[in-house]
Amino acid sequence: MTVEAMHDLGAGLPEECARCAVGESVLRRTPDIVVRYDLALCRTYANRAFEYHSGLRPLQYLGRRPSEASNLSAAQARELEALLADVGRDGIPRSRDVRWTGVNGQPRWFCLLVSLDRHPHGAPSGLLMIASDITARRRAEQELREREQAFRALVEQSPDMIGRHDHGGRLIYANPALQRLLDATAGRGGRATDDFVAEPQAYRERVQAVFSTAQEHDAQMRHVREDGRPGWLEVRLCPECDEHGEVVSVFVVARDITDAVEQRERAHALVRTDALTRLHNRQALYEHGPALLSEAQRHARRVGLIVLDLDRFKDVNDSLGHPAGDRLLCQVAERLAECTRAYDLLVRLGGDEFAIVTTNLDSPWCMVAIAEKIERALATPMPLGGTSVVVQASMGLAVFPEDGTELEDLLAHADSAMYHAKRGGARRFEFYSAEHSAGARDRLAMEQALRQAQHGEGLVLMYQPVVCLGSGAIIGAEALLRWQHPQLGLLAPDRFIGLAEDTGLIVPIGRWVIEQVMAMARAANAGRARPLSFSFNVSTRQLLRDELPQAVSAALARTGCDPRWLVMEVTESLLLENGPHVQAALAALRRMGLRIAIDDFGTGYSALNYLSRFDVQGLKIDREFVRDIEGNPRQAALVKAFLAIADALQMTVVAEGVENAAQADILRAHGCGMAQGYLFHRPLAPAAFDAAVAASDAAQHATRA
Ligand code: C2E
Ligand code: MG
Ligand code: MG
Repeated sequence: MTVEAMHDLGAGLPEECARCAVGESVLRRTPDIVVRYDLALCRTYANRAFEYHSGLRPLQYLGRRPSEASNLSAAQARELEALLADVGRDGIPRSRDVRWTGVNGQPRWFCLLVSLDRHPHGAPSGLLMIASDITARRRAEQELREREQAFRALVEQSPDMIGRHDHGGRLIYANPALQRLLDATAGRGGRATDDFVAEPQAYRERVQAVFSTAQEHDAQMRHVREDGRPGWLEVRLCPECDEHGEVVSVFVVARDITDAVEQRERAHALVRTDALTRLHNRQALYEHGPALLSEAQRHARRVGLIVLDLDRFKDVNDSLGHPAGDRLLCQVAERLAECTRAYDLLVRLGGDEFAIVTTNLDSPWCMVAIAEKIERALATPMPLGGTSVVVQASMGLAVFPEDGTELEDLLAHADSAMYHAKRGGARRFEFYSAEHSAGARDRLAMEQALRQAQHGEGLVLMYQPVVCLGSGAIIGAEALLRWQHPQLGLLAPDRFIGLAEDTGLIVPIGRWVIEQVMAMARAANAGRARPLSFSFNVSTRQLLRDELPQAVSAALARTGCDPRWLVMEVTESLLLENGPHVQAALAALRRMGLRIAIDDFGTGYSALNYLSRFDVQGLKIDREFVRDIEGNPRQAALVKAFLAIADALQMTVVAEGVENAAQADILRAHGCGMAQGYLFHRPLAPAAFDAAVAASDAAQHATRA
């Protein structure tokens, strides 16, 4: 039998294959090269694929070693034989990628697998080599490598910042551009991970959202640039998915767009800026105004609108020329800016017309203060072309929401008020509403009068005796302020204290009161065995505006009053609203020896914990509780509770507004020690108070005797 015939019958096949027809057919058809060698490295079998790749026929290759017959180069054949020999020697299978030249001269890549073939009883029978053509795979791998290199070069050299987050949100890659920003961030003390944006928490949430939704996400975020300036980043987050669609990482591509944003803002601002004065223009007012109004609406606050028009500006233009007129407008703009707060909106409406929107108005009267400030500011002559000019302006004032809830309405109303002011001539400003105008006029007159009175002229202190409920004896007094108004007569404090607070006049007035009370106490207690206590009132804004401890200590020195004779009455709201400053002031006054009492106790706040924080010695039960004490058992129960609180905290109690004997009886029965009210005495002028004290002293004397 020829070798060829043997081959065709399957002789020389690995024995197990030879016994198996399926195995034989597989060997024939497989694209892999299969060759069997004997232990002397001579071929004993090769399949079709071998013949195809080598171009050899069985007669040429069977019984030959690779170096004797093959299409391989001498070096390749030697290498193969060395590999076969190694496996034959130690029986360990080996694999290797080799580059062989095929019949057609084209090099191809093969993955060789060489193993030892054994007889059924275990002794080596030969060597088996399987060579798989991996040229296509190698080529694909090579292309991939090249593509990756190209991409990497792109990413590394990109001016955009590129990074990659793992599932925990950690940054696992940063290209040089991003790395520079991260380094700068770390240099400023930030974490060099995701603190490269100004709001890292928001950024982390966005990254997590991309992980969970697998959706791309674009955002603009603030950041601090490498040079430390604040800037803007345009950030794109892209999911990278595996073959199951699971997001395995998130890419971030960020670009600094600060210049573009700034340019846009500059352009935006330019459209809304008056070219001459650099103030906002009408367009800006229409844009920002409605937002200010709805903000005020939300917080139930007032907004004021002042429309201002220069008087006889045309004359300036006509006599000094338009350039001079322009310069004047700029000076006016500067002066107006000085009269407004940073968050007010100052607008040049056009020509010689300006508008001011003031937010957070406490009352319409605050606008009067602004209008007056503007009047004063414009009154100073402005230098212009060698001479100096005094400009006057007319102002119209409208208040949101009373005079309109829409910007247009407010503008129209302020405008009409402005024309009213121009025609009126006498006053430089008018409110739109007659009520406000009248109110403003009254208030202005009142303020002027109060200014005259601030150092005492026209102010009067009345003293309402405080009596001991047990004995009926006068043991002290509360000083109550009155103002002798030139036209309106004697005014009670509720008519003018608010105005005094708004205008700051409360400071000199309050100091006058304190000094008067001290002088009174000094005189009344001269030679008394049991000194009388004198209490005086201070309001919250008075205490906040004034350096009260210094003022009190100076007055004590001047009057020679003993501080232990004095009680300062404060309201609950003072203690509650203004923690540290108030606490320090009260502590200083306590150290001087004054006592402190809470006035109108029970009407202000329900939170009582302030009682433990502040060092107070007395309570004054408001007359609201005393009034109903007879008819209303619940009111009586409350008074009883107040007395229990005072007792527990070792505070004295004065009941206010006691008007009849029944009230006094109930208070006495509940253990209230002191009272004040019309039943005993009305507030008295100093001489009348002295007389009442003398009478009380005499009566006590008589009872004891
Ligand atoms: P207040 O400190 O609660 O003073 C008690 C008020 O009750 C006084 O009113 C007094 O005249 C009034 N009154 C006293 N007994 C009776 C009574 O039996 N029946 C009725 N119906 N009323 C009585 P006044 O003098 O009008 O003072 C009002 C408020 O003005 C005071 O309330 C006090 O908070 C404030 N005030 C008075 N003087 C000053 C002051 O010098 N400085 C400051 N900041 N506030 C003052
Ligand atoms: Mg009082
Ligand atoms: Mg009171």
